Amino acid sequence: MMSEAAVAEKPARRSRRVRRETSVVYAEVVRVEQYRPRVRRITLRSAEFDGWITDVPDQFITFIFPMGDRKRPAVGRHLDWDDYFKLDESERPHARNYTVRAWRPDVLEVDVDMILHGDEGRGSIWAMEAEPGDALAIWGPRTAYDPPPNVTWHLLFGDETGLPAIAVILEQLPAGSAARVIVEVDGPECIYPLESPADLEVTWLYRGNEHPGKSEALIDAVRAVAIPEGVCYAWGGGEFRTMQALGKYLRRERGFRPSDVTAIGYW
Ligand SMILES: Cc1cc2nc3c(=O)[nH]c(=O)nc-3n(C[C@H](O)[C@H](O)[C@H](O)COP(=O)(O)OP(=O)(O)OC[C@H]3O[C@@H](n4cnc5c(N)ncnc54)[C@H](O)[C@@H]3O)c2cc1C
Repeated sequence: MMSEAAVAEKPARRSRRVRRETSVVYAEVVRVEQYRPRVRRITLRSAEFDGWITDVPDQFITFIFPMGDRKRPAVGRHLDWDDYFKLDESERPHARNYTVRAWRPDVLEVDVDMILHGDEGRGSIWAMEAEPGDALAIWGPRTAYDPPPNVTWHLLFGDETGLPAIAVILEQLPAGSAARVIVEVDGPECIYPLESPADLEVTWLYRGNEHPGKSEALIDAVRAVAIPEGVCYAWGGGEFRTMQALGKYLRRERGFRPSDVTAIGYW
């Protein structure tokens, strides 16, 4: 027979997830703030956010960037992704995912923190050029964060792009739980405010001159973490290869059940 303590350590069953309807909404940029040296905070407003965005952590939405005229959404409301991918590249608007960093239902505003990584990517370029009055078609919303209901300890890891989601997850953790956060960034200029009612231990790793996606620092640091007793859940968002390696490692070598690890390739 199992002891009571052992029973209490078991992850409780998740309630069945209701798959949310996804659709296209149109929004307008109402504010642009240089929130951190490498982060542009874009505030969007839309009457259509009402009932579409909800108050769950790690909600992400897909920006479909305008092709030419920044004031005109790039796609119609009945977007079909099969048709989208059949379009010739020259006619296909660029689409990228971003986390809802904050949602203010009273004013129908959403903040998204876009990491600037030079002028290589359409998303980074759009963020640098964004100004009030710009229009966006946005598809979604979706979420990937799915801890067991009785989770007591979170392991959260990622790079610059995972920070907005880590911040939202942390803000919604209950007091009395604990979170270990490990983030790999270029350098101290990338430090981003993280606050939580939970007990929080944060490690910042600097990759310095190493190219993002080539550094092993995050992998090594997660490998060195001591996993406590209790109900544990691991969530990661960052460079694809690193997330794939860490997801595999936590499941195969650290005893996490597949459902208790979410590690998503963000780029
Ligand atoms: C669920 C989800 C949520 C996300 N949330 C956010 C968010 O809140 N904020 C955010 O900024 N990003 C977020 N991302 C990541 C974002 O979608 C990608 O970084 C996206 O590729 C950026 O698009 P881009 O057009 O700027 O660059 P791309 O055209 O995709 O890439 C151009 C080049 O830049 C490289 N690159 C791309 N991103 C980075 C980076 N961050 N650092 C260094 N090199 C990079 C690529 O390897 C490529 O060589 C999220 C991704 C997912 C899947």
